[in-house]
Amino acid sequence: MDKEDLSQIEEDCNCYTCKNFSKAYLRHLLLSEELTFYTLSTIHNLFFFNRLMEDIRRAIRGGYFKEFSK
Ligand SMILES: [Zn+2]
Repeated sequence: MDKEDLSQIEEDCNCYTCKNFSKAYLRHLLLSEELTFYTLSTIHNLFFFNRLMEDIRRAIRGGYFKEFSK
């Protein structure tokens, strides 16, 4: 992570962390050993996996999981 990168972790992510904090700020928290870094990164990671599981369930219901998994 670049210390001047003001973009969010994942551009199309709507989680609290991505909507409110830049990569530069998260990098600062990590290097400062602020525990807030772990809270914010966990929020993004849980949001990511929740969205992934929704997409997988949708692919299974839609009968295109094999293509989706590639
Ligand atoms: Zn996010």
